[in-house]
Amino acid sequence: MKAAFSKTTEAEDTHAMNYEEFHRWSIDDPEGFWGEQAQLIHWNKPPQKVRDYSNPPFCKWFVGGETNLCYNAVDRHLADRADQNALIYISTETDETVVYSYAELYREVNRFAAVLQSLGVGKGDRVIIYMPMIAEALFSILACARIGAIHSVVFGGFAAYNLAVRIDDAKPKVMVTSDAGMRGGKAVPYKHLVDESCNLAKFPPEKVVICNRGLDKGLTLVEGRDLDYATLRAQHMDAEVPVVWLESNEPSYILYTSGTTGIPKGVQRDVGGYAVALASTMKHLYHINPGETMFATSDIGWVVGHSYIVYAPLINGSPTIFYEGLPIRPDPGIWWKIVNEYQVRTMFSSPTAVRVLKSQDQKYMTEHDVSCLRYLFLAGEPLDEPTSRWISDALKIPVIDHYWQTETGWPMLSYLPGVDLKPNRFGSPGFPVYGYNIRVIDEGTGAEVPRGEKGVLVVEPPLPPGCLSTVWGDDKRFVQSYFSSFKDLLYTSSDWAVRDEDGYFFILGRTDDVINVAGHRLGTREIEEAIQSHSAVAEVAVIGVADKVKGQVPVGFCRLKDPSQLDAAGATEKMEKEIIAKVQELLGAVAKPHNIHFVSALPKTRSGKLLRRSIQALAEGRDPGDLSTLDDPNSLEEVRRAIGQH
Ligand code: ATP
Ligand code: MG
Repeated sequence: MKAAFSKTTEAEDTHAMNYEEFHRWSIDDPEGFWGEQAQLIHWNKPPQKVRDYSNPPFCKWFVGGETNLCYNAVDRHLADRADQNALIYISTETDETVVYSYAELYREVNRFAAVLQSLGVGKGDRVIIYMPMIAEALFSILACARIGAIHSVVFGGFAAYNLAVRIDDAKPKVMVTSDAGMRGGKAVPYKHLVDESCNLAKFPPEKVVICNRGLDKGLTLVEGRDLDYATLRAQHMDAEVPVVWLESNEPSYILYTSGTTGIPKGVQRDVGGYAVALASTMKHLYHINPGETMFATSDIGWVVGHSYIVYAPLINGSPTIFYEGLPIRPDPGIWWKIVNEYQVRTMFSSPTAVRVLKSQDQKYMTEHDVSCLRYLFLAGEPLDEPTSRWISDALKIPVIDHYWQTETGWPMLSYLPGVDLKPNRFGSPGFPVYGYNIRVIDEGTGAEVPRGEKGVLVVEPPLPPGCLSTVWGDDKRFVQSYFSSFKDLLYTSSDWAVRDEDGYFFILGRTDDVINVAGHRLGTREIEEAIQSHSAVAEVAVIGVADKVKGQVPVGFCRLKDPSQLDAAGATEKMEKEIIAKVQELLGAVAKPHNIHFVSALPKTRSGKLLRRSIQALAEGRDPGDLSTLDDPNSLEEVRRAIGQH
């Protein structure tokens, strides 16, 4: 045991280390490095061994250690911060704000845990949580963690079919849901989708617990299956549910990838490795002390929600903001109002959300004093330079692009303000985060590409703690999907990247977002960047459309900052020519878009990812596929209309 944690000298030196030294320590001496980080969390029984990589590419972390995510997120803080804020629930949809202290959070989580236990849920049982952003969602997540049940949160925007697919994969004993969510002032019914999905599924849950908000007047309960949470809670008001200690490598949750590129995979996460990785990022990456507030604007249905709305802030002893609502309601200053009111130190959002704010009246950016805010982190999709410049000018703080995946659970590329904040380079999510030995390799040969050349971003195995331990119920798929593209069991991110002379990384899009024009392989992202550099363009999606001669040709879909620019006769053709010329100038003739369509909205998922697959399908006259996470149904009509016009 002692050997695992013998690196105290390095820990004392941490603050003196620069980024390079810190990263090198994590790669050269993973046992020492992670042994040190492991001290950031509570262990009921300390680990015997930091790492066991005897069965590659599977890796076990903190072997023999016993811990619990709920204990670390809640119980552990009762001694020092029982009365401090833990959960700040704000709904601009129902106009409610409820602040829970750590002591109150403890009570609510125990009640929820007791309810689940009373329904027979125990260690290893799965619970699907299909919930809007209400406090009970967080209670139910932590309640599962407390009793060793495996939660699988399914994003509330998914339709019955998607839910059924996940039900059949996870085979839950119980589901937790709500009568309805709210979006833009309208109730969005959830419960009837659960009913539908249970009819579709082969392995529906025995019980469905409903947190009734009173939003769906037509709510009906299925006899013998559906239970009202308020009634159950009332029976367990004083419950104290003992924590179930888990071996570090036992599963904590399943989270399905968003499915942007295909059938979702059930990412399985461990307990100890995840807790340690998250705790370390609060310190070194998000640079936030216990007691300081974090505000991540994502949804619990996504990995950002799991890691940085729920677990990491609470493990750190930081209040977390749990926000239900749009960024522009009641007005586009709402997020800054929240930042000011709760003295948020670190904020986490997405480029899409920033673009939404950018198209609003600028006065909302200065209405509230946000001098408490130290950093804004953005992730999930490429951050273009104009958006990045605009938001950093408006907030006058570092805006940090960082890159990661559902699979990894925490950042892979970033700047590290808690260690050594390097100067920002626009368009770059920075450098490999400690623990990740990242390389950029040639897709064909697998050899490392020279600086400045594009290749596939891969991670040398084993993956650091907190990353997926396997694909739920399918070890083969885990190996096949992630470790079989290249030799030496390299983990493939399936994203293109390039590293510049100074080591800054740039993400160039997904390896499957590639267009093959007359034998040339072009990344859609590069063409999009070129188009975006035209000053009139607000947003763009580029896809490859089948072409008899060339194989594929690039086609662009653009949203202009000022659509009235196209009102004059001949203006559309002129703009199209200008944009095509811009691409030719920057990337050469092969990359020239065949044509440019102008639309008022682009099809995106609720998490802000462009649905290139669907646009491409429409452009080729095929079925656009599963659109249940489409953010704005009108956007698809826009694409249809634009294609029809040409
Ligand atoms: P699926 O794997 O099911 O197709 P997905 O990849 O969209 O879904 P996520 O894991 O949520 O699901 O997204 C991770 C991906 O998002 C990355 O692989 C990358 O393509 C993109 N991404 C994330 N952060 C950034 C960033 N900072 N810059 C550019 N791209 C990013
Ligand atoms: Mg992915």
